[in-house]
Amino acid sequence: MELEPLYKVKVTCHYCETEFETSRVRPSLKRPYRTDSDFCAYYKLENPDFYVVRICPECGFASTENSTDKLTDKQRLAFKEQIGNRWEKRDYSGARTLDQALATYKLGLFCAQVIQEKDRIVAGLLHHIAWLYRYREDHEQERRFLEFSLEAYVRVFEREGAGSNEARLLYLLGELNRRAGHFHEAVKWFGRVIHDKRITDAAMIRASREQWALLREQMISGKMELPEEMIEADKEAAKRSPI
Ligand SMILES: [Zn+2]
Repeated sequence: MELEPLYKVKVTCHYCETEFETSRVRPSLKRPYRTDSDFCAYYKLENPDFYVVRICPECGFASTENSTDKLTDKQRLAFKEQIGNRWEKRDYSGARTLDQALATYKLGLFCAQVIQEKDRIVAGLLHHIAWLYRYREDHEQERRFLEFSLEAYVRVFEREGAGSNEARLLYLLGELNRRAGHFHEAVKWFGRVIHDKRITDAAMIRASREQWALLREQMISGKMELPEEMIEADKEAAKRSPI
């Protein structure tokens, strides 16, 4: 007998304290068969990313596992005025289609903006929305949301510093700039991961080298002038190479 891919958990609303159900994908099914260079993942059955945003059916408050759980009076008031008062009861506890997942992320984003949630949460929501448009092959919307998420990740870096996930955030700043066509910016961020001796995350160093090489190809085939940093790195490589 096949196991149902989804199971339900109970969550308590951060705003009205109602206990409600939301679905999650079984951990054994969370292995993607493919992952893009900016971590967008593809699954054979249910996509766990569709279930990240939990929505209270009573008041419409949307959150993720990493959201702020204690709201200030100011946040409560802002939520009530802009979302809570207009909410029509809706249930997102079951299986979600791509369109429904998109609706939950849009509400999650609106909610996060209204209560001025941490930049890290906002950046993650924007990045996920870009992925949902990628699944749908809506390239224009995907690009729009990748740009928004890039701006939000830059704010994360400027305000919070990169923290324990430093290499991953720096790599992502490189990759999102590359995808957005800001090639010179991308070189700077990848260069930091590759050359900063304090960074020891081998997977992110390898990924940065690969994307740096890809970027170099893209710039050469686009007849673009290579940035100084890249020319210097090429010279260094030539010195080390015996041929
Ligand atoms: Zn609620």
